[in-house]
Formats: sequence, C-alpha cells, structure tokens
Amino acid sequence: MDAYKKIHLLSQELIPVINDLDDEPRQIILEHITDCRDCRKLYDSTLNFDDSMPKQDYTEDVELKPLKKLVQFNNGLKLLLITVRALILFYIFYSSFKFYGVESATLMLEYFRSGIFLFYTPAVIFLLVFTSVFFNKKWVWIPLVFDFVIILLLDNIVQLFL
Ligand SMILES: [Zn+2]
Repeated sequence: MDAYKKIHLLSQELIPVINDLDDEPRQIILEHITDCRDCRKLYDSTLNFDDSMPKQDYTEDVELKPLKKLVQFNNGLKLLLITVRALILFYIFYSSFKFYGVESATLMLEYFRSGIFLFYTPAVIFLLVFTSVFFNKKWVWIPLVFDFVIILLLDNIVQLFL
C-alpha cells in the first residue's frame, strides 16, 4: 500500500470530522483532496452538511422563541392576576378610610366587609376561573387559599388595628 493510498484511506475516515482536526492533519487532507476526486466529493458533501447545520440551529431558535414568549406571557399573566387583586384591595381599603376614617370604626368595617363581598369576591371568582383555564393546578390552589383568607379573615385582621 503506497503513501497516497494510505492517506486516501485516512482521509475517508477523517473528512467527516475535518473541522475538528488539528491544522497539520487537516492540511494533509486538504492537499490530498486537490488530486483525489472521491475525497473531494466527500469533502464537499461534508461542507454542505455543515452549511445546513446553522439552518437547523435557526429552526431550533424559531421553535424556542414562541416557548420563551409563552413563559413571558405566563409570568406577565401571573403578575397581572396579582396586580388586579392588589388594586381591588387597595381601593377597598382606601375608600373605607376615606369615607369613614378610624373614628367610626364600626361603619368603616361594615363598608370594608361589603367592599370585599361586592367587589373582591366576584372579581377573584372570575380570576380563579381564568387561572384554572390558563395554569396548572398549583397556580389555582395558591390564589384560592389566599383569596379565602382575604374574604374570610381580612375584616377580622383589620378589626385588630381599629
Ligand atoms: Zn482520496
């Protein structure tokens, strides 16, 4: 077996991984390619395959982006669900204090209770149904427990401070 044939055999083995070779062996193969048709063909197909790789990466990227967006959307939605609750509670607190102040604690508490039942309860029922459609069970239980505490206990907690 002469040197040309040996290099040809090694080239056939190494051309598919030519980009991972050190400079010197790669140079030997590239020299061999210039006067060996078979190896040049193999080299060309390897290059074409490499060319198609970035395209595959690109499609993976395209597939990833909607997933990222979905995660961002979900996080935005969670934030929105928390913000809506916070705003309603803030409004009920604010208007109770504004209209009755701490002097007429009984009336204030009465107003606060009705605010919770008239505004907060229907709003969170809607939000919980909405949440159960968009999120898994864990994200329904957490607000459900939270809302129960708010609806059943918050007026008692407020009473402690009056
Ligand atoms: Zn060859």
